[in-house]
Amino acid sequence: MSRVLVIGCGGVASVAIRKCCQVSDVFTELCIASRTKEKCDELAAKLEGKTETKITTAQVDADDVQQVINLINSYKPDLVMNIALPYQDLTIMDACLACGVNYMDTANYEPEDTDDPQWREIYNKRCEEKGFSAYFDYSWQWAYREKFEKAGLTALLGCGFDPGVTQAYCAYAKKHEFDTIDTIDILDCNGGDHGYPFATNFNPEVNLREVSAPGSYWEDGHWVEIPAMSIKREYDFDCVGEKDMYLLHHEEIESLALNIPEVKRIRFFMTFGQSYLTHMNCLENVGMLSTTPVNFEGQEIVPIKFLKALLPDPASLGPRTHGKTNIGCIFTGKKDGREKTYYIYNVCDHQECYREVESQAISYTTGVPAMCGAMMLLTGKWNTKGVHTVEEFDPDPFLEALDKYGLPRKENHTPVLVD
Ligand code: NDP
Repeated sequence: MSRVLVIGCGGVASVAIRKCCQVSDVFTELCIASRTKEKCDELAAKLEGKTETKITTAQVDADDVQQVINLINSYKPDLVMNIALPYQDLTIMDACLACGVNYMDTANYEPEDTDDPQWREIYNKRCEEKGFSAYFDYSWQWAYREKFEKAGLTALLGCGFDPGVTQAYCAYAKKHEFDTIDTIDILDCNGGDHGYPFATNFNPEVNLREVSAPGSYWEDGHWVEIPAMSIKREYDFDCVGEKDMYLLHHEEIESLALNIPEVKRIRFFMTFGQSYLTHMNCLENVGMLSTTPVNFEGQEIVPIKFLKALLPDPASLGPRTHGKTNIGCIFTGKKDGREKTYYIYNVCDHQECYREVESQAISYTTGVPAMCGAMMLLTGKWNTKGVHTVEEFDPDPFLEALDKYGLPRKENHTPVLVD
């Protein structure tokens, strides 16, 4: 019996909401609130008569803390699921603290305006101190640890697939497969084809910022940063086949390095086709990925926002995307004094996802873990107070829920390693 406020009604949120509605005994009441209320109403109308969950909708600008506080005070949820954008993480966390409600999200904070001088000053210092230059990092949300702990509240950060399930895989490997883990390679493969020359599978602005940034990995206690897309490997993925993959910076590396301190190296690879990379390089070279406003015929335009308006809406890719995703982690380490390797991953089919929830697999593989993470908090299976990432909780009930609700794990004890 619980009331949940979901903020955001885009590709990922729509999947999470539909999955919550499949588990009405946990998600008794849902309020879907977003900037554009019509999208919430449209989804609520589609779900009418198909679920026991009682759905209401609301309009909210989550950049405005007071609006979120007012909404929380009027709806009185047990949990706020932030599935809007990383830009809203801090305002929604502030509102949850003010109202005494648990919080969760699917991506760590980054500012919308990267030219803000105050933010830049802190960012430049962090780049120097830590040695990676991505716009996002955990420091902003980790700064809330004490406040959440003192308030007796839980904030669950980054509960999608990667970040999210990948960290649960690491916690599972540590709990059941290894005494010590030496290396972790996180492999994110999308073998899907949507037929467009260029489109992103989730929010284009967030996605393109992520993949055009320098890559980095954790080795021997420090970050190693490399030019974007400069480390390439090939891997033969189960159910997908051979793909090119590139080393990227990714947020879970930061928390895993902290929470599994014995690990000597953590890398993250994502597959990209040549067409995607050619388009991205070209767009970057002409300045279309810039977040700095330009004046065009008397009007201020942010290039990457304009590009977002031109690209296909990720939510519209569902019916046209065929193929599978394969996301997981390869470990090396020791158990009972012996060297061993282990690979745990999930394979998800774009068309099967579309048939079930009218969405492609990228939103599905993020929305299902968001629902399962919310379920862990609402049923008290995960109840540590403070601000935490997924690997800090017991992975077993979470992975069991993922097995049951659409993202079953596969295992391989003799995987091919990435060199
Ligand atoms: P979309 O752009 O499809 O949806 C974002 C939603 O947030 C939209 O409904 C949008 O409203 C709403 N929104 C944006 N700004 C505000 C605001 N100020 N107030 C209220 N609502 C707002 O994004 P996705 O669904 O693709 O991604 C959602 C989140 O999931 C992102 O944080 C993304 O980084 C994360 N993600 C995580 C992954 C993981 O594996 N961990 C993988 C993929 C995504 P409107 O309709 O008005 O624009």
